[in-house]
Formats: sequence, C-alpha cells, structure tokens
Amino acid sequence: MRHHIVIIAVLFMLSGCQEQGKNIIAKEIVSDLEGISQKYVGEEPTTPEATETYEPIPPKIFLNDNYVPSDAIVLFDGSGLEEWVYVSDSSAAQWHVMEDGSMMVKDKSGDIRTKRNFGSMQLHIEWKSPAEVINEGQSRANSGIFIQQRYEIQIMDNNDNATYTNGQVGSVYKQAVPLAMASAPSGEWNTFDIIFEAPEFNGEKLVKPAYVTILHNGVLIQNHFEIEGSVKHVGWPIYEAHGKAPIQLQDHGDNSRVSYRNIWVREL
Ligand code: MG
Repeated sequence: MRHHIVIIAVLFMLSGCQEQGKNIIAKEIVSDLEGISQKYVGEEPTTPEATETYEPIPPKIFLNDNYVPSDAIVLFDGSGLEEWVYVSDSSAAQWHVMEDGSMMVKDKSGDIRTKRNFGSMQLHIEWKSPAEVINEGQSRANSGIFIQQRYEIQIMDNNDNATYTNGQVGSVYKQAVPLAMASAPSGEWNTFDIIFEAPEFNGEKLVKPAYVTILHNGVLIQNHFEIEGSVKHVGWPIYEAHGKAPIQLQDHGDNSRVSYRNIWVREL
C-alpha cells in the first residue's frame, strides 16, 4: 500500500516538474526501497568531494600472455588434465589432449569434473563444435557445463540446427531460453564468460537461489537468471541442499567431438 501512495505522489509531483520537486521525489523513492533505504538519507551533499570514496582499494589484476587474470585458478591450459577426473569413478580423466592446446571429448568415456569444488565464481571457458557436421538436433555436438554438477549451461552446434529453444546452445537446460544465439560457425572457437552466484541453504531449506549471467562471444545471453533448481532431463527442476561442488563437462555419448580450451575460474 505504501508503494502505491509513493507512486501516486510521484506522478502527482511530476506534473509540476520543478527542479526542487524532482529532488524531493528522488528521496522519496529511494527511501521506499528496501536495502538501500539507509544509504542516501540525511542532508544532501553539496560538494563533489562529499560523495567520493577512497576505500576499499580494488586489487590490481595482471593478465598473462593468454589473457588469464593473475588471481584465476587455471583448470585447463593445454598442458594436461591434472585438474580433471571422471565423474563415474574419480579416476584420471582421459579425454583427448590435442597439440593445439585444446582437449576434446572422448566419446562414451563419460563426463569429467574438476577435482576442486567451487561456489560463486566467474568462469571463462572456450569451446568449439567440429567443422565436419554430423547428426541433427540434440545429437549435434552436444556437450555442456554442469556448474556445481547440477546446473547445465548447454553447449551444442545450433548452426542451421534447430531444437527446443530451452535446450539450445546457451540455455540453462530446460529452464532458460538464451537471449540470443551467438555461436561462431561450426569448427570455430566460442567463448563463454559465466558469472554464477551459488545458491545458499539453511540446513535443507533454500534461502537464496542461484543466479547466472552469461556472455557468449561477448553477447549477453543470460542476464542474472534465477536458476530454478537442479537441471532435469525429465521432470521439474528442484533444489537440493549442497555446498561447493565441481564443474562438470558432459560427454553426451553421440560422437560430439566438442573441444575445450583455456578454462579458468575466479572465485567470488
Ligand atoms: Mg548437453
């Protein structure tokens, strides 16, 4: 009800549109928003210096020759699969490590996961589907990134290959249609930059859902999407309480030949 009163008041005052009136409106709106209500109250500052801050100082990040930030955990740089094991039995991952610094799904050998567990993070990963196109629909170069082994960001070749849109490349599988289809041509490299906010639980109870934002080749394709629970191929998504967990890469089992390279994470 209070929101309604404020909105009506704002509309009424906007009709006057005096400079003085605008300031009053701005304060009224801000003070009605939860969370930031206490930040901008009191006397309005009258100098630019009064609203300048000098702490905290952001840490300085350096980039290496491959544009990997100095505070990142490198999960794959072409040298080997030391950071990865099979999901099935935790044995050393045996996907193909290629001479060009990439790795490729070893068909029907199984999904692999990181040895490390992650919570909220910025994940950079590059991938490509093979230039030689085989199969149709969901069977064409299907892989995927299961964040925390539960929340799949779909990877597949959708170039001239339509499928259900909440299962196409860049979808949160069966939950969120991507905002755009930004894939490079088959056989060329793509980048995914994923900002993931991990869900929070109090015992078994969900107190904060997960959120994901994704840039595909620099194009925003998921914008702070509220994840609805663990991805399900059949059935509804549902949250189950969990802590930090690995990143999992999918072997879809139909000769996907999807390749990955330059994988790193910054923990948030
Ligand atoms: Mg997949």
